[in-house]
Amino acid sequence: MISVIIPVYNEEKNIRILTKELFDVLKTIKDKFEIIYINDGSKDKSILILKDIAKYNKNVRVINHRKNFGQTASLNSGLKHAKGNIIVTLDADLQNDPKDIPRLLNKLNEGYDAVSGWRYKRKDPSSKKIMSVIANKLRRKITGEKIHDAGCSLKAYKKEVVDGLELYGEMHRYIISLVALRGFKISEVKVNHRSRKYGKTKYSSSRLIKGFLDLMFIKFWSDYSNRPLHFFGTLGIIQYFLSGLIIIEQIIKAIVINALTVGPLLLLAVLLVITGTLFIIFGFLAEIMIRLYFRDQPEQQDHMIKEVIN
Ligand code: UDP
Ligand code: MG
Repeated sequence: MISVIIPVYNEEKNIRILTKELFDVLKTIKDKFEIIYINDGSKDKSILILKDIAKYNKNVRVINHRKNFGQTASLNSGLKHAKGNIIVTLDADLQNDPKDIPRLLNKLNEGYDAVSGWRYKRKDPSSKKIMSVIANKLRRKITGEKIHDAGCSLKAYKKEVVDGLELYGEMHRYIISLVALRGFKISEVKVNHRSRKYGKTKYSSSRLIKGFLDLMFIKFWSDYSNRPLHFFGTLGIIQYFLSGLIIIEQIIKAIVINALTVGPLLLLAVLLVITGTLFIIFGFLAEIMIRLYFRDQPEQQDHMIKEVIN
């Protein structure tokens, strides 16, 4: 079964058209399907329309958020309720084209665990496109995966890929990177993109900064989540080392001019010792926290095993 997950925030004019487009495409696929709409605290008539659609279609389900929690939270809710063994996600604003879904599914069937859409002819304002070029370049550099357009919401996953995936903040843009860093096989397919006709975009340029912070955390989590002491400890030791160099330099200087002066460099050396010690203590604390985290949620490490033979 295929579960199609769609976050909805103030998309009253789009939902009926989208539902029609989805049914037209999904009918042609032989698998069973369900459509899960997540109403993310819409202030327009979205929820009334969704309830009406669900009333007449048994394979449409609606999850109604208490208030607006954001696109990532909406996807999270959808993923938790999905019953299918294949998950497809897309936006409710008609920018993604449901006609691309079969091509994504075919790519999955070629043996990939997750497939991302690539809006190679993106229909958005140029300010958005420029930001996206920068963000995508940075992401590829930091994560090492080669996906062109991680921000494209139209994606398909095998269920086991998203099981246990914890999404926080605005991580929805990096699901494909998270998945790749967990060792799954990913690919991409060029998809159609349409400009937004009804409703407004919910994001501004502040997303670049938030996105960068999320990206750094993803990288940290993927590299150091099972050994945070190495991360903090290394930074701490580097600071000790720098402090040591300054102190040696200061001692030599003191011998040469035959007097010890308390200048900015010596202060810096003291500061580095203090912050270095703090970093090492952070490392120990992080190590304790991570051990508790994995002890209480052992399923967080399930993705490491692909198969067990005999
Ligand atoms: N969305 C949501 N909650 C939010 C913001 C957005 O569920 O707080 C949904 C929105 O209805 C749309 C999708 O997430 O279906 C993408 O949002 P939008 O089209 O505004 O993003 P853009 O395409 O401009 O990046
Ligand atoms: Mg959009």
